[in-house]
Amino acid sequence: MQGFNKYYPPDYDPAKHSSLNSYRGKHALGDRARKLNQGILIVRFELPYNIWCGGCNAHIGMGVRYNAEKRKVGSYYTTPIFAFRCKCHLCDHWFEIQTDPKNTRYVVTEGARQKNEDWDPAENGGFAVHENDPSKAGPADPLAALEKTQTAETHTKTVVAPRLEQLQAHADRIRADPYAHSQRVRKHFRAEKKVEAERRRQDDAFLARYGLAEDLKLEPDSEALRAAASKELQTERDRRRDEVPSLATIRTRTSSAGSSSSAAANLKATLLRNSLGKSRISAGLSSSSTKPLVGRRS
Ligand SMILES: [Zn+2]
Repeated sequence: MQGFNKYYPPDYDPAKHSSLNSYRGKHALGDRARKLNQGILIVRFELPYNIWCGGCNAHIGMGVRYNAEKRKVGSYYTTPIFAFRCKCHLCDHWFEIQTDPKNTRYVVTEGARQKNEDWDPAENGGFAVHENDPSKAGPADPLAALEKTQTAETHTKTVVAPRLEQLQAHADRIRADPYAHSQRVRKHFRAEKKVEAERRRQDDAFLARYGLAEDLKLEPDSEALRAAASKELQTERDRRRDEVPSLATIRTRTSSAGSSSSAAANLKATLLRNSLGKSRISAGLSSSSTKPLVGRRS
């Protein structure tokens, strides 16, 4: 029996025994390989159909399994043909079944009879399905052939041909003059590159002038944006003009002795307004150089 675990006995010598199986003097396939020198491997073979044993004439059902001697008996083109030799389990008789690659079947070659239960189309008014010889094929149905031809022709005229022409025209347009296409694309790209570089230069200058973060992304300049920004700026200014004096007034009123002069109050209000104005730069600075900030440059 071949080894089934990884136990290496003390006298095991890897130089002498290349494997545990060779140490035990066994084949890796075990007892199934005992006839390998005759070209026979013993496999489990299952009957593909019902048979009658040639020795005891007993009926043996499909699916009964045997320890069959498998050997190669020939080839169909490059596909090997195998024969399975089995011993009847009811008597001492042997029978043999071979593969038939040509018809993708199994055939009983000796020692038994196959019970023929296959559906035979020829027997039932049809044509053989597994007919490999074209000369033996039944006559073609002329009406079916005609119908098929007509359908194919109509399909070709209405669907295939227009589509092919369409594809041909498209291909012609695309591949007509690759040099001109390439030239046009490169020209366009060159011009676009210049515009983009100029815009980047202007944006960087703007950001540097106002000390803004370098990765801020600026919207492209336009009349509509300018109008919107200056309107927003005006709104913000109006709001602060209303807000800041009232705050100053409140502070003046709540000061303890009331000794602060009106000049001091005015100065305080101006300072407060200026500091607030500087802290909120995002609303825009002046109508001429306004660029609203929308996000971070990626
Ligand atoms: Zn038998």
